[in-house]
Amino acid sequence: MSKEIFLCAINNILSGTCAEDCAFCTQSVRYHADIERYNYKPLEQIIKEAKLAKEAGAFGYCLVTAGKGLDDKKTEYIATAAKAIKKEIDGLHLIGCNGIANIEQLRYLKESGIDSYNHNLETSPSYYQKICTTHSWEERYETCQNVKSVGLSLCTGGIFGMGESDEDRLALIDAILSLQPEAVPLNFYHPNPALPIKSRNINPNEAIQIISQMHKGLGDNKILMVAGGRELLFGGMEKAMFDAGINAIVIGNYLTTHGDEPQSDIEMLDKLGLKIATYCPDHN
Ligand code: SF4
Repeated sequence: MSKEIFLCAINNILSGTCAEDCAFCTQSVRYHADIERYNYKPLEQIIKEAKLAKEAGAFGYCLVTAGKGLDDKKTEYIATAAKAIKKEIDGLHLIGCNGIANIEQLRYLKESGIDSYNHNLETSPSYYQKICTTHSWEERYETCQNVKSVGLSLCTGGIFGMGESDEDRLALIDAILSLQPEAVPLNFYHPNPALPIKSRNINPNEAIQIISQMHKGLGDNKILMVAGGRELLFGGMEKAMFDAGINAIVIGNYLTTHGDEPQSDIEMLDKLGLKIATYCPDHN
C-alpha cells in the first residue's frame, strides 16, 4: 500500500501587524520587511479561499493571525470564521494558529469548530533568548500545555537553520516530544534581507537527520510535516524527506512567502507514487 500524505493549506487572515521582535519573522513591524500587510480579512474571502484549498486536495486548513496572541476581538473573529467554514464546507480539519492563548480562549475556539491549535516552540529554550526578547519560550510552552488541557489536538514544531547549534536542535526536538503533540511542523529558515538573521545554517542532509530523529520519537501515527523552507531545501529531492518520515506538506503559499502551485505538488506526489490522505489518523 502506498504511503498517504496529508496536505495542509494556510490562510493568513490577519497579516504583518505584529509588535513583537521574533528575529525570523517578516510579520514583525520592527523589521519593515516588504510583505503584504492587512487587517482582518473579510469572512466571505476566507470561506472562498477555504473552498479552493479543499478543491486542491487540502485536508487541514490553518487560520493564522499575526501577533503575540489572542485577545477578545481576535478570538471572536476566529470563532466566527471557524463556524462559517464548518457550516459551508464538509471535511476540513480546522487549525487555529493565533499565538499565546489561555484555557478559556482555547475552549471557546474548540466549541466554535477549531479542531487543532498550532503554536510552535520555534527553537531551544537557551537559543530562544537570541531570537526573541518580547515574550518568553516558557509562555509558548504553556500555551501548548493549555491546548492539550482543553482537548484540542496539539500541533507544535519549530524552525531550524536560524544559527542554532546541534545541541539546540536536539533540545528543541526533546521539548517538542515532551508535549506529545499530534502533529509537528518542521520549518527551515527562509532568509529575508530585512530580518536580523541573515543566513540559514542548515543543509539538506542535516534537515533529513532532523526529520529522522523527530520521526523516531513521534512514531508512524502522528503527523510530521515539512512546512516553510521546503522548496528551498528539498526542491528536487523530496523523496528523501518522505523516506525519512515526512507524511504531510503545506500546499500553496506560506504566511508571507510563495510556495509551489498546489497542482505541481500533487504531480510531484504522483510521480513519487504517494497518495493524498483524506482523513487524519486521530482527527476523524
Ligand atoms: S509573535 Fe508571531 S507574528 Fe509576531 S513577530 Fe513573533 S512569530 Fe511573528
